[in-house]
Formats: sequence, structure tokens, C-alpha cells
Amino acid sequence: MNFSSIADQPTAVKTLRSALSKQRVAHAYLFLGPSGVGRKLTARVFAAALNCEGALDERPCGACPSCRLIGEGRHPDVQIILPTKRSATITVNQIEGLLPFAYMRPIKGRTKVFIFSEADRLGLASANKMLKTFEEPPPSTVFILITDRPENMLPTVASRCQPVKFGRLTAETIKKILVRDFHVEAGRASVAAELAEGQVTRALQFTDPERLEAITGIISSLGGCSERLQAYDRLLALFNDERLKLQEQAEKDIAPSPEEAGASAKSALADLRKAFVDRHYREFLNDCLGLLLTLYRDILILRETGIDKFIFNRNKVKLLRGLAERMSSAVLLQNVESIDQASAYCSHYVAEDRVFLDLLFGLRHA
Ligand SMILES: [Zn+2]
Repeated sequence: MNFSSIADQPTAVKTLRSALSKQRVAHAYLFLGPSGVGRKLTARVFAAALNCEGALDERPCGACPSCRLIGEGRHPDVQIILPTKRSATITVNQIEGLLPFAYMRPIKGRTKVFIFSEADRLGLASANKMLKTFEEPPPSTVFILITDRPENMLPTVASRCQPVKFGRLTAETIKKILVRDFHVEAGRASVAAELAEGQVTRALQFTDPERLEAITGIISSLGGCSERLQAYDRLLALFNDERLKLQEQAEKDIAPSPEEAGASAKSALADLRKAFVDRHYREFLNDCLGLLLTLYRDILILRETGIDKFIFNRNKVKLLRGLAERMSSAVLLQNVESIDQASAYCSHYVAEDRVFLDLLFGLRHA
């Protein structure tokens, strides 16, 4: 693990390397950017550089005992702070527990590093504690605050950190990561990477086989009315599963902390959970439509060029070729338009069962 492990983030890497080489490391950084693009990895690489025992211009070396401990998440001077499982926010108790350590000398290395991986979940009281700390920053301690929603942070906290911006990854990089780290088959990985909008976390959603089958099943079941209805039922079952999964996750991740047990906290909690489920569910519906779109795009390409090389869904080439022989470009383009329309309806919160029923009966087969 070193700076070359960080893909597609030249600006962030340049900022941090330059701070290291000029020995002008800030007390606090704000890592801004979408999830799934390498923000946490970069925070750990930077923490390793600050404690590496290797030569100055090669830090982090990735091989010294300090680098190895940080890579394994076992270095006593590097801590990752998350909202506790039982709390929606990073609580004052957590911050109060951590601050004495921030003011102590490092145990093993040169610099203590505290990484807040969801800094927008610092509650107001915790954010105020942090603010006091930033006013008199402890020596040899660096705070790294990571967020994709800086607008949810206390502005006075955000403004005291040096911003480091992260962009989206290229499809090529995502494909590489899916194949190398998640053992996704190469063809599948290219489709997922193209749809992922630059986020590995998003790409992983497109590698779920059940989902893929339900979506690719649509294009081969447009023969008659009963086939369409069966495809629709499979979709609804998939949607239902996803919603349940998201609800479970929301219950688990967003739970009340003991210090916030009142009635108003309970309703705020319900709102938080609902917002979480809604946001991810909309994203999921959009991803399903995105996947369907790639299939028609592929058929169109096969129809117009006959070349496999340019298509996303190479594992479905036989099915797609068959459809390409039967469908005219005009029909394919009309289907693409119907999917775009469905996507617009979904983002305007039209009920998804209605949207997909209309879509399934609106898609043309020939
Ligand atoms: Zn090292």
C-alpha cells in the first residue's frame, strides 16, 4: 500500500505528497468526494507516509513494520472513527474518549492520525468539541475528515480543514479493481464498470447475479402478455428484496444512541432511516434501468456493426445477436426512449410498480 495504489486521484495525491515533501502537513484535512473512489485508502496511505520508517522520498514504503501495521489496521497511532453501530451520529462520548489520546505523544510512530470516515455524521455537540480541538491542535496529530456531504457538516468545522478533492474513477480502473480484488469475471466487470458512474461501491451492485438475471430476462420475455407479466413479477420480487435489505441495513446502521432517546429523537430517527432507504432504493431502480439500457445499446451496436468487441454484455452475445437480427433500429431506439422516460418517472417518485408495468408493456419486441 503506497501512493501508487491510489488510482485516478492525481490532484489529491499531488496535494498530499507536496505537503509531505515540504514538511507542511496541516492539522486537519477534509477529504471531499463520492464514496467508492479511494478516499479511505488515501487516508491510510497518508497515515502510513506520516509514520513510515523508510527513506523520506519513498514514504510510505509499504514494507517497514509501521507501514505493515497500518495496512493491517493494527497501528496504535492510527484510528478510524465511525458512528458506533448503535448510533446515527459520532457521539460526544466517542469524541471525549478519543481526545485525551490526541494530546498524548504517539505510541509507536511519529504522528497520530484520526480518520473520521463519515464526518458528516458528527453530531452538533461532537462537532463543537472538534472545533475546540482545532483551535488548539495537539502537536503531532493529524485529523482526516472524510465526507460526500460537506453541506451536512458544521461550516466552522469544515472551514478549519484543508480541503482535498476526490473525483470519480475511470471505467477502466473500476474494471481492474473488480477483477483483481473482487474476482468478478472480466466481461461482467466491464458492464458493471461502465454503469458505475465512477464508484466502485456502485459497480459492485451490478455484479449481483440475481439482479442481472432478472433484468436481462426482460429482453427475452417480451413475446406475449403472460411472458411480460411473469417478467414483471420477477422484477417486483427483486425490488421487494432490495427494499427489505435496505430497511434491515437502515435499522442496523441507524439506531438510537442512549443519549438521544426522547420522542423527538425517535421521529428524527425514523426520518433518517426513511431517507436512507429512499435514496438507495431510487439509486437501485435507476441502476436496473441503466442495465436494461446497456442491453438495447448492445443490440443496436450488433445490428449496426455486427462486432462483439464494442458491446458491454459479452456473456449474452448469443441472445443479443438473435434479437439484433429481428429488431429494427427504429424499434430499438424507441425502446431506449421508453427506458429514459421510465428513468425520469422514477426520479420524480412515480410509483415504481406502475412505471415498470408501463415499461414492460411499452417495450417493443420487433
Ligand atoms: Zn514504511
